[in-house]
Amino acid sequence: MFKHLRIGLAALLVCGALTATGAPQLTAQAQLRRGGASLVRRAQQVTGDRFRFETVTPSGARVYAVNRPNGQTLNAIDRGLSQLFAAARRRGYRAALNHSNYTIFIARADRTRNADGAYSPDIALGAAQYRGSVYDQGGYVFAAGMVLSNQPPAFIIAEHDRDFNRIADVARYEGEHLVLYHNDRRLYARTADHSRGGSHPILQ
Ligand SMILES: [Zn+2]
Repeated sequence: MFKHLRIGLAALLVCGALTATGAPQLTAQAQLRRGGASLVRRAQQVTGDRFRFETVTPSGARVYAVNRPNGQTLNAIDRGLSQLFAAARRRGYRAALNHSNYTIFIARADRTRNADGAYSPDIALGAAQYRGSVYDQGGYVFAAGMVLSNQPPAFIIAEHDRDFNRIADVARYEGEHLVLYHNDRRLYARTADHSRGGSHPILQ
């Protein structure tokens, strides 16, 4: 049984949806006043990284990155968000379904292989509500991605040098929390904290 559990976790893209407890929301005034600078500051606090590069994907999502992101990375972000928006439209959602609504931070990977040795660039996060759960690796968890801010919609992923489809998956999955926040607050609340179970995809 334990073995099955391990296999299940290895295949899972763990997602650090820590926004609810870990980070205060920006007030509307603060967003207007400080714009992207405030988001960047928070991303730097969470990751310990410096995001020296700023760019926009072909479909219009804003990207801040520790190194200049290649075209495959930017296209993968667009692809994942496009798949997400299509699933959201099928459910009748309307809000926050444009690439330009989203800001993505590409952080340095804190590990590039998971416990089973597979390529898995992840970021380390303070365990918060994951403490003592199966995800806990001694006070922190490794996550494929993390929601940084619900409003404006922003999330963090780790830098990849291959397996770009994984970036598309992570963008889609982190984006799910944000689409739900803006369109279906009840389902958002039920799915935001994976330490209580549940994973991705949420929207088929
Ligand atoms: Zn998640």
